[in-house]
Amino acid sequence: MHDFHYVGNKLNCELVSVESLVKKFGTPLYVYSQHTLSDHFQKLDQALAPLDHLICYAMKANSNAAVMRTLSNLGGGFDVVSEGELRRVIAAGGDPRKCVFAGVGKTEQEIEFALRKGIYSFNVESEAELLRINKVAGRLNKKAPIAIRVNPNVDAGTHAKITTGTYENKFGIAFEQVEGVYARASKLKNLRLRGIQMHIGSQLTQVQPFELAVKKVLPLVTKLAKKYKFEFFSIGGGLGIVYNPALESGDSAWWKSASAKPILTPARYAETLVPMLQPLGLRILIEPGRFIVGNAGILVTRVEYVKRTGKKNFVIVDAAMNDLIRPAFYDSYHQIVPLTRNSSKATVSSDVVGPICESGDYFAKDRPLPKVGEGDFLALLSAGAYGFVMASNYNSRGTAAEILVNKNQAALVRPRQPVEEIWATESIPAWLKK
Ligand SMILES: *Cc1c(COP(=O)(O)O)cnc(C)c1O
Repeated sequence: MHDFHYVGNKLNCELVSVESLVKKFGTPLYVYSQHTLSDHFQKLDQALAPLDHLICYAMKANSNAAVMRTLSNLGGGFDVVSEGELRRVIAAGGDPRKCVFAGVGKTEQEIEFALRKGIYSFNVESEAELLRINKVAGRLNKKAPIAIRVNPNVDAGTHAKITTGTYENKFGIAFEQVEGVYARASKLKNLRLRGIQMHIGSQLTQVQPFELAVKKVLPLVTKLAKKYKFEFFSIGGGLGIVYNPALESGDSAWWKSASAKPILTPARYAETLVPMLQPLGLRILIEPGRFIVGNAGILVTRVEYVKRTGKKNFVIVDAAMNDLIRPAFYDSYHQIVPLTRNSSKATVSSDVVGPICESGDYFAKDRPLPKVGEGDFLALLSAGAYGFVMASNYNSRGTAAEILVNKNQAALVRPRQPVEEIWATESIPAWLKK
């Protein structure tokens, strides 16, 4: 389900050899496949075809303008979580009228900007936010379209840092309180109750949590939709992807061509949910992020040193946790493959680490990898989601370059950041200057 595969012994992205990109653009380098992006979008789009639906791509997963344009060209809308993201939608040529605005901390300024741009809906996370949206809309003499985010209190069974649908976390309004909140919202003059929303978590690899959550909220949605003439029901994002194909297939052979595919296929997702949702007669929104971009991107890095200590074989690479923080932040797994594979099946148990002065700066621990040496290149797969967007300048490292590949074409869609830019806006107060 993605377009990174070996041609002969060279890793390709679609029809482009990744090594040719590295020669031209250096490392660390993010490479995205346009075909994978479109394919994932279209598979979801087709699976939901029986429903009036809108895919609002959760752009926090990857907000590069070229990625966004790929998806808006296919008719996609966006799930935004800040004014900055909404401005990015506009800059990338997306349609604000296909945007939903999520997040627990929307400021007055953000609400005003989104109202002026005519977004589709605010996904509201608290009663205080409702009051604030009503107030700002009144000031602008507008009616703000809103949906309340219902927290269905079901455990998505995913990593604690990405579970959002239980009362243990900060998101949404408790299931039991939602009806009362809508009743009060209906009395606020500057609101239009356009729909209802939920999002239970991320990297869900089974359909059951979605099924449970939808089943739980359906009677409420039916009742409220009738009462307030809702237009839509958003079931959120969260579809997971395969990060470790070896675990899925029981095959730990690293040299097999990369084959990560979604476990929770769009077909399986739709087969369960479409029949439940269809009778509502509402427009259904989904907000997938990771599913669309996760396996559409890789991070390419150069081996700088191989260091053997008494116990370990450290492969020290030029990418670091500032480029891809997922292993440090979520203990996540990324498949690591060489750009040039050799025929030997011998592996060395290795720790792949970056140059940053933190023990958390690693990409893999005790991973069987082919023997590599200085100057070899490795690709960290499934790095398209929550990769570049979480990059920082820690250790005064500039952010990596990003490339979009389309068949045999490749474009630099964001250049490597010159390090001077990192401190360009800093200044030294006069009293320190002598
Ligand atoms: C992060 C987020 C998403 C997307 O999650 P994925 O797991 O990347 O699909 C969707 N909706 C909301 C409200 C989110 O916060």
